Amino acid sequence: MKLRVVAAVLALQSSAFAADFTFKPAGTLVSGSGTGRVDAKVYAPGMRFPIEKAPAYANSQVWGHGGSSGPGGGQCDTENFSYPWWDNYCETRSWTMPLCPAGKGHQGQDIRAATCTKNVHATVATTDGKITSIGTYSVYLTGNDGTVYRYLHMGSLAVSTGQTVKKGQLMGKVSNEFGGTPTTTHLHFDLEQNVSGLGKVFVPPYTSLVQAYQTLLGPTVAKLDAKLVAQGSDAEVDPSGKADYRVCAGDSIHFWFELENTGSVTWTDSSGAADGQAVRLGVVGDGNDPFTGNNRVSLKANANSEVTPGGGDCSDQPKCRRTVFSKSPGIAGKAPSTPGVYESRWRLVDELKAWFGPEVAMSFDVVDCGGDGAAGSAGAGGSSGSAGAGGAGAGGVDGGASGGAGGGQKTHVLKDDAGDCSCRTPGRRSGVAGWALVGVLVVLGSRRRRSGLRA
Ligand SMILES: [Zn+2]
Repeated sequence: MKLRVVAAVLALQSSAFAADFTFKPAGTLVSGSGTGRVDAKVYAPGMRFPIEKAPAYANSQVWGHGGSSGPGGGQCDTENFSYPWWDNYCETRSWTMPLCPAGKGHQGQDIRAATCTKNVHATVATTDGKITSIGTYSVYLTGNDGTVYRYLHMGSLAVSTGQTVKKGQLMGKVSNEFGGTPTTTHLHFDLEQNVSGLGKVFVPPYTSLVQAYQTLLGPTVAKLDAKLVAQGSDAEVDPSGKADYRVCAGDSIHFWFELENTGSVTWTDSSGAADGQAVRLGVVGDGNDPFTGNNRVSLKANANSEVTPGGGDCSDQPKCRRTVFSKSPGIAGKAPSTPGVYESRWRLVDELKAWFGPEVAMSFDVVDCGGDGAAGSAGAGGSSGSAGAGGAGAGGVDGGASGGAGGGQKTHVLKDDAGDCSCRTPGRRSGVAGWALVGVLVVLGSRRRRSGLRA
């Protein structure tokens, strides 16, 4: 389907946002490249990430695009410069590796810098220590605790043997040096430590790299995030407690969710490509909602259709940080014709990018009210919530005490022609006399009636 194709393209765009970083669990190798070591231990806690800047991509050179055992393509292919990270410490090689399931492996982790251009991306010291050896394509940094950090394939070396270095100090540039025939442009990074019973061996560097990279990226910035402020419906509160609301089969209802933008990008629904530009309320699971019959509500249907995270604490005009799906009287729906408890469950979605924020939901007990039960739409708009006028005549209004902000109340009229409608007596209103005489049951549904937060 068309949307999926676009999503795939977007996923290839690289970015250094912390929120975008994903990684396969330690020990997860690219299929066919060997058996990894599942080991959550961080062998070099607190080390600095060995490449100066994000983004960087830990993955296989040999089994990646452009690799001799890879799917083809070239080393500069976009696929090699995208998350998630893959462990390749135990990747199939001839090195003796007592900690790998096969007893042999790759020694360390291969990491690509932001691009495949060599001698551009700086490498830096992971810790305070000393340069203890430099080979044709290797640099050994020995930390003060004895851990050996090895950097392979660098160019533009900035250190010399015997030199003392500080954590973060320039070491060289990511390159393709291999003592002759070049390799792909990447940093091979490994750790040697003493392991009881084995002596000095190559230990898994992957978890240490993940931790160091997360530190480099900094705190996760939730670009798209939300919280539920309030929700409600003009349906009758369910006196049985079985559901949030009760409604006659086939009857029209409205319901609404007020959400606050707690992320860092403005929400619109302009169908733009940037983050936050295709925000809608979507049905969780993408099936059709039982009341609306569809699975999306556009932000454009809201009074505030430009929801700005730094905006004012208001929800009824553009650039506030809150918005109500949808503007008064809410999202229009119709109760199913078959009685039963139905749930309407939604979540925000930035189309083609991500679902985000809490799932929001409300439940309705749909009951058979006899007749067609579909007297339906709100009677003449009712009145805005002035103090109750008592049992006024037909079509009269129960003023209700709940007030509600800005006259946003909605009056819901349920036809009482059968005389035995099981949904006719709302619990809150049992004291109001004269309704049966009037023949019309007026249920006031202010927006404040039901504001239970259920994030
Ligand atoms: Zn390597």
